[in-house]
Amino acid sequence: MWKYFLPTKVLAGEGVVSKSAEVFRETGTKAFVVTGKSSAKKSGALEEVVNALSNFDIPYTVFDEIEENPSFDTVERGGEALAKSGCDFVVAIGGGSPLDGAKAVSVLGKNPEISCANLYNGASFKAYPIIAIPTTSGTGSEVTQYSVLTDREGDKRGFGMTSIFPAVAFLDSSYTFTMPWPVTVSTALDSLSHSLEGEMVNAGKNPLVKMISLKATQLIKDNLPPLGDKPDDASLRGNLQYAAMLAGMVIAQTGTTAVHAAGYPLSSYKGLKHGMANAVTLNRIFERIAASDSERVKNAIKPFDNLEQLKEFLDSFGVGDVSLDISEREVEAWSVKGAKAPHNRKTPGDFDREFYEKLYRELKRR
Ligand code: NAP
Ligand code: FE
Repeated sequence: MWKYFLPTKVLAGEGVVSKSAEVFRETGTKAFVVTGKSSAKKSGALEEVVNALSNFDIPYTVFDEIEENPSFDTVERGGEALAKSGCDFVVAIGGGSPLDGAKAVSVLGKNPEISCANLYNGASFKAYPIIAIPTTSGTGSEVTQYSVLTDREGDKRGFGMTSIFPAVAFLDSSYTFTMPWPVTVSTALDSLSHSLEGEMVNAGKNPLVKMISLKATQLIKDNLPPLGDKPDDASLRGNLQYAAMLAGMVIAQTGTTAVHAAGYPLSSYKGLKHGMANAVTLNRIFERIAASDSERVKNAIKPFDNLEQLKEFLDSFGVGDVSLDISEREVEAWSVKGAKAPHNRKTPGDFDREFYEKLYRELKRR
């Protein structure tokens, strides 16, 4: 038995926000626009959204405070502002951070009596409808029910809720052209990691997930390398945006593995970009799985022929050169947390404290 669930309406193409502007009117009467500091403006997405809202006389408020790895404090501030604003839908513009931040803001704004801690207690809460407009090609957050926040101890923690699946995702790849090269690479490697991890969890059981994962991996393998020489190539950028969405559709069904759990402290405490943080742990974790189930790994990483080829691909984008200053205290603290991560249950094999210690010590030695 298998199931596939994804309630997000996807509208894609150049100029899609202007061309489908009536979607805003159909979604609500007053918009709460959530963005990061500058990318929504830089990419041109905010201007196009504001024009579309103005054309339909839809009033709006902009909350532009979401930082990278959004914090509990910021999203609680956003939730309060939303609750007081009289807005009845959320427009999220940006990379995964503003999109995830907006999802939490939407829940908190709809339920002013709760705070971020409540998002993790297993209960489901309603949210205002969300329109998601990605400006990076990585997290797939535009089609997932997940949001990853940073708690008050500085740890990254994800929660999932059906109510935060965006109602609508607008995909216009022209918004991704302004991404600097390191952001382009890191976000593409995040989507690659989603695609491979998702199929690792799936192990061929859900044919739709398997098909989507294979397509996403192929697109990233083919379109990221040539982009270095042609950063303004519309077709390459469009294919990477499409791949990131596909990989989001995959993890919406499967979740992610120990790769994501292991990468979180590298972003929280060492400032390594999320996609890079996954990429530096990916091969090591897949090698461990391959030691007991090489067929499963072989199938999950298709169309890469083997782990060596995957490593070569990652290293061609600097993954092998990442150098981290990790203290012994950090190795111990992160390993205790890593061993408790729910992602381990989805990862074939034993991902215990010893495993995480070894992994972080290897990264430290680089
Ligand atoms: P991000 O943290 O949203 O953005 C990284 C940087 O890129 C920011 O400085 C941002 O600027 C800038 N940027 C974004 N788009 C740009 C553009 N078009 N032009 C120029 N600069 C641009 O990066 P991300 O990798 O997309 O998101 C990572 C976050 O998503 C992490 O917190 C991760 O844990 C989470 N995540 C979520 C899911 C999910 O399913 N929900 C899955 C994987 C990862 P601004 O600050 O100005 O916006
Ligand atoms: Fe991710």
